[in-house]
Amino acid sequence: MEKVNLTCIECPMGCRIEVEVENGKAVSITGNSCPRGKMYAENEVVCPMRVVTSTVRSKSGKMVPVKTDKPVKKALIFEVMKTINSLSCNTPIRIGDIICENISDGANLVASGNVD
Ligand code: SF4
Repeated sequence: MEKVNLTCIECPMGCRIEVEVENGKAVSITGNSCPRGKMYAENEVVCPMRVVTSTVRSKSGKMVPVKTDKPVKKALIFEVMKTINSLSCNTPIRIGDIICENISDGANLVASGNVD
């Protein structure tokens, strides 16, 4: 049995969570203060996921802040960043506009700010 220590990133409290892992599954989770922390810990030991934030250069040269609209597999973030770096978009752009559909596993890349 392996012990994994995590800091929950689901809210600013940052609870320290200890997970006991057996055969790739969480068999014991302690230290979380709420169910979100338990879910975070379970996912973190099996398939860690992250929302990706970055910027895309628009055709006018302005930088557009972007993020994935849901978490993507941490193991695929390098590929997602490569795609983001190859993108360009038109302005003006508004929060929530889709910059790239299905950039990874059904997650879209959307604008996270307005750019005129
Ligand atoms: S376990 Fe719950 S309270 Fe603690 S950091 Fe995670 S989300 Fe916040």
